[in-house]
Amino acid sequence: MNCRDVREVGDSFLCQELLTETNHEILRHLDSCPSCRTEIEARRRLRGALRTAFNRAPELQSTGEFTDRLRDQLRHAAVQRHRSWTRTGRWLALAAGVVLAAGVTAAILLNRSSASAEALARDAIGDHSNCALKYRLVRRPVPLEEAAQTFDSAYRLLISAPPDDIPTPDGPAHVLERHSCAYGRRRFGHVILQYRGRVVSLLVTANDSGAAEAIPHVIGQPLGGLSVVSVNGSRHAVMLVSDLENNQLTQLARIVSLPLAQRLANVTPAHTQTTAWLLLPPAQGVDSYSVGRLGTSSLLDSRLPTR
Ligand SMILES: [Zn+2]
Ligand SMILES: [Zn+2]
Repeated sequence: MNCRDVREVGDSFLCQELLTETNHEILRHLDSCPSCRTEIEARRRLRGALRTAFNRAPELQSTGEFTDRLRDQLRHAAVQRHRSWTRTGRWLALAAGVVLAAGVTAAILLNRSSASAEALARDAIGDHSNCALKYRLVRRPVPLEEAAQTFDSAYRLLISAPPDDIPTPDGPAHVLERHSCAYGRRRFGHVILQYRGRVVSLLVTANDSGAAEAIPHVIGQPLGGLSVVSVNGSRHAVMLVSDLENNQLTQLARIVSLPLAQRLANVTPAHTQTTAWLLLPPAQGVDSYSVGRLGTSSLLDSRLPTR
């Protein structure tokens, strides 16, 4: 290799693009040729200076940073999008599940509620019909105090409420009878009223399944001309049953059932001793007992129309 050969492939030598054998020939020539050594060293410095200048140039440098930043951002965005989709998917699935569960629960509750309201209305009509109108219950009615101690302390409230004479815009309602009776598998606190020349049953019964609804509303289907208007407390239903028009029954419910439902909301559940405020003066308790002592049958026979 002579000097001309070395100057020809000098740049390729500096770029390390030559074969190992050629590189060795050049190095051997440079060892013995100071002129070519100087020339190659000058090119090496120029290349270094160019690279440095190139790397330090602001526009070129920023391009490199921009490229790095852009690559990082693209990679980050891709990862985020993937995560975001994954997360959105999860949220959507969760939301769909919640909506579905809520819908199913609502449907079940609604069904159960309306089914229980239907059953409740049938029992109330059955009790009114068989106890208040025909007096042919299988089990004899018991005094409210006895029922309060045995079954549900809420019945104690009916010993004094509603009062015997209840004024309404359409004339007074009179209490004919107070007791506890059972129809089917359901026990009631039963106050029999006379209103507008009709017999009306005020029935209080435990009702955990129905939603509390402090607005008098018709429940179930009319049966034998009898319908039921209910006010639901948190644990009890307060119902009126009669052959009155629904609007007349609803109006009576506002006067009679609503205050009862409000007081019942504070009564502890069945089988517990009642709170002090529910305990009545002895005189009123004796009056209510007297119904049981006299015999409900004779009392009903004398006061109520028989069918
Ligand atoms: Zn040379
Ligand atoms: Zn009864």
